[in-house]
Formats: sequence, C-alpha cells, structure tokens
Amino acid sequence: MSDRDCYCGEPRGGDVGKRLRLAGWAARRRDHGGLIFIDLRDHTGVVQLVVNPDRAPEAAAVAHAVRNEFVLQAEGEVAARAPDAVNPNLATGAVELQVDQLRILARSDPLPFQLDEENVDESVRLRYRYLDLRRDRMQHNLRLSATVIAAIRRYMECRGFVDVWTPNLTKATPEGARDFLVPVRLQPGRFFALPQSPQLFKQTLMVAGFDRYYQIATCFRDEDLRADRQFEFRQLDVELAFPSREDVLDVIEGAVCTSFEALGREAPRRPFPRMPWVEAAARFGSDKPDLRLDLEIRDATEVTRGSQFGVFAGAPAVRYLTVPQAFSRAELARLEEVARGFGGKGLAYVVFAEDGDVRSPIAKFLSEPELDAVRADPGSTVLFGADQPAVTERVLGALRLHVGRELDLVDETRDELLWVTDFPLFEWSEEEDGWHAAHHPFTGIRPGDERLLEVDPGRAVSQAYDLVWNGWELGSGSIRIHDPGLQQQVFRVLGISDEEAERRFGFLLEVLRMGAPPHGGFALGLDRFLALLAGEPNIREVVAFPKAASGSEPMTGAPTPVPDEQLRELGIQVIVPPG
Ligand code: ASP
Repeated sequence: MSDRDCYCGEPRGGDVGKRLRLAGWAARRRDHGGLIFIDLRDHTGVVQLVVNPDRAPEAAAVAHAVRNEFVLQAEGEVAARAPDAVNPNLATGAVELQVDQLRILARSDPLPFQLDEENVDESVRLRYRYLDLRRDRMQHNLRLSATVIAAIRRYMECRGFVDVWTPNLTKATPEGARDFLVPVRLQPGRFFALPQSPQLFKQTLMVAGFDRYYQIATCFRDEDLRADRQFEFRQLDVELAFPSREDVLDVIEGAVCTSFEALGREAPRRPFPRMPWVEAAARFGSDKPDLRLDLEIRDATEVTRGSQFGVFAGAPAVRYLTVPQAFSRAELARLEEVARGFGGKGLAYVVFAEDGDVRSPIAKFLSEPELDAVRADPGSTVLFGADQPAVTERVLGALRLHVGRELDLVDETRDELLWVTDFPLFEWSEEEDGWHAAHHPFTGIRPGDERLLEVDPGRAVSQAYDLVWNGWELGSGSIRIHDPGLQQQVFRVLGISDEEAERRFGFLLEVLRMGAPPHGGFALGLDRFLALLAGEPNIREVVAFPKAASGSEPMTGAPTPVPDEQLRELGIQVIVPPG
C-alpha cells in the first residue's frame, strides 16, 4: 500500500470529512502548548497537520520529536479551519488534517541551512544540492526544464526528425575549446575525447541518408566556467539534408515557440528578425545584441575626416553613442575606465547639459557642422570611439551595455529574439599569426566567396547564423561544406596541412567523398535557453548537479585523485601531484 492518498498540496474544502493519509517533509513545527501544528510539504505545496493530544496522545508524543525535514506519514480526517485561521495564501489554506496517527519515516540531521532561508551562499547550496533541490526554486526550474524538453521532443518528432544517439567516447571535434580526454585501458597511451559537439557525426548521418536528425546531446568543453558556461552542457542538436537556410531557421524558431507555449507563455512573433553580422557589429557593437536596449551606435567618420581634433581626423573610424543622461565628470572618468578595459585608448565625449551648456574637452576643436552632426537633446552625453572599426565597435558595444544596465534602460518586459547571419568565415589570430575558423571549420561559404580562400580569406563570408535572445547567444549553426575539395581548401587556410587533415579529419573527407548531400543545421544551447525561460541569471540554476565556478562538483567532491593501481592499468603516470 502506498504511504499516501494524495499530495500535500491537494486537499481542498470539498475534502472535509474525508480520511486521508499524507506523506512528506516537516517544513515547520509549532508547539502551542497543547496543540502541535506541522506544515507537511512536498513539491506540490504545504498542508497543515494538527495534532491534538486529547484526540491522539500517541501521535502527539511522536509530534514532539519531529524536527525540520523529518519525513512523516500522517493519517487523519480533513477538517475545515476556523474562519480566522483560514490562510488565503495557501492552496490548502481552508483545511487542515486532524491527525490520528503520525509516523516518522525518516529523520534528518540538523540542517546546514533552513530551506526557507534566502541568500544561502551558492557553495553551500551546491554542497548540499539535494536540500537545495528540495526548495521551490529548483523544483520549479527542473520541472520547467522537463516540460520544455518534452515539448521540444514532441515537436521534433512531429516535424519528421529522427533521434539518433552519437558516441560520447570519440575523437576530438573542434569547436574552439580544449578536449576532455579519456584514457583507454585496453590501449594504453591512447585517448578518447569527449565530444565538444556531435558535429561530425550529424554531418555523417546526412550522408547516411537520415535527412532530419536531432538529439538532445551532452557536449563537453574544457574551458573556464562562467554564468553561461559549464564543462558539460546540453544542446538541441539538429541537422537537415537539402535545406535552405530558411528551412533550418524555421525549424529552430518552431522549437523555440513551442517551448514558450508549453509554459503557457505567448510565443515570440515569427519570423524572428534577421540581421547580418556587419550590421549588428556596426549598430550595436556586438554579435549578440540585446535589442531590449534602444541605444544605437552611429558613425561620424566622414563628417570628422578633416577635424581639428587630431584623434578624429586620423582615426580609421569615428563612431558614437548618444546616452540620455548628462554625465558628471566623475561618471565619465568611470566610463573611461570601462572603455579602457575593452581596449579603448581614452574616451572623448560631449555633454549636452540640461541648461543648454555644452561640456567637453574636445568641443573647442570641433567645427559647427561636426557638433551639429552629433548634437543631442539637452540632458544627453555623446560618447566617442575613434580607432580601428573593430575596436570602436567593441568599446562602444561594451559602453552601450554598461550604461544600459546602470541607467536601467533595458526594457525587461520585452523578449527580443534575433538571427545574426553572414558571419565572417575566418578571424585573424594575432597570437597564432594565422586564420581561425570563426565558427568551426565545416561552416559553408557564401556562394561566390570560395575564390577569396586563396586571395583574401578575411573577406570571405560564411553561411553561419546565431540565434540571440535578449543579448544571450542561444546557439549557432550553418549550412555546411559538402564538397571534400572545398573542405580541404578551408583546412589549408587554417594552416592544417593535407597530412594533418587526413590524420585528424580523414574520416570526414572520406565521408564527403561518398555522396554527401548539401546539408546544414543548428545547435541550441538548452541550458542557456532553459535558464532564460526560467528567468534565472545563470545556467547552474537549471542544472541539477552543476560544477561550481572552480570546476569541482561540491556534493560528490569530484574530481578526485585515483588509486595508483588504476593509473598503472591505464598506463598513466601523474607528474603533478594532486593539490
Ligand atoms: N556544432 C555546433 C556547435 O556546437 C553547432 C552547429 O554548427 O550545428 O556550436
């Protein structure tokens, strides 16, 4: 027989007079001299148990021993509460259980924190994650996640996608991070890599004739942890054969909107806007602009070409941001620090004060037409970036977000989804003195730009696209290269010789030579998406057992050293003693 007839959050006025068995955790016990009240809790809510020593002396004796988070089973009769004891804030607030029998099913040690305590340090929450998960916030987040994932699966199945599992023990899959390696006992000195994504497997599946693939895939990337980054994370991984770009975007938009609807929320309007990367960078100084913030970067390069202000006259690009606030000198000094942090050499500005005054160390060098070109309403400040175009974008993009937050200019009531498209194919790496794939090396090239591979790779535009929600990158994808010759050419631009390409990606080149259809896809970062849907500031809040910022898993204590014997079997010698 089950320990309970219903959940704690279920009894209602209509149940008065019924006999019920309830089970759950003791959220609170109040001893009122004679009567003992216990709030019994499970994930559905709380119900009040009343133990009356006159009615049930044995139960009362048990109730005295109850402490917070003991697991209890109570049997009794549902009774209406006295009118002045009705709690309108509680779904079960009209009733209580008059207890006849009370059993302690499990005890709890004194708790490291009370479950209703706010602002518990995250290290404590992660150390005692099972207690943290018992709380409303995490119950809500994980259940919300499950609802969304179930809806996405249903949607993908309906659209004809086939769920295919791909290996976790595999070969390096370059997504720009370090690999996690797994030693192989049967082949000492050899290592599997955990996949940074199923990228090459999903491309292979297209060649294998599965023209619509999806998977909720776990990916592993060894990089520093942040609010939106964990070593392992989930992706809704998708690939289609014979798609147009719009086909891919349409599938993903559908998955996003389905998720909103599964939570009873109004779905964002479709199609989501599309914006080429060049425009996103120029207008918002970002490849993931937060469009809830109406500030835009403008260009003043032409108008300042012959400026008396030497910095402007000589700069390859002069851009500016108009902020609706007349900043003080001290505030501007702080903004200058922000600008410097992002590579700016300083921060030129013009303040248009409320009283009509123009305050600026550079105004005296600016001609009337120059000043007119940037003139703003009284009570505004114009912040300039004068440098290489990419530097002005980076600095003004950072200032845009900074002042947006500081001045509360982000409209939190809006949801802004955006496709950023047409990224460059390559980025120049000063450190390595060579080209890097801006996405990954399998990203398709804008038709017509293939010829640039040999002469000017930096100008080649890709067929990559990112999905951005309120300034968070939700994921990326592309139409892929399906021509093995072109793939090899891209490897060469990346400084990967034909021999190295054969060694690292020989199987892919072989696959592409065996009848590869045009294909493309996308990967939606599920944890980020779920965190945003849950209104959480970081992805740890939607992951049951996340790593702490240090990279450890505080509940189990992983990672741990392993016995010498195990290492010997694997043929591994540790040269840095574990700290
Ligand atoms: N594999 C890519 C990633 O994980 C996504 C894609 O191109 O489909 O970011």
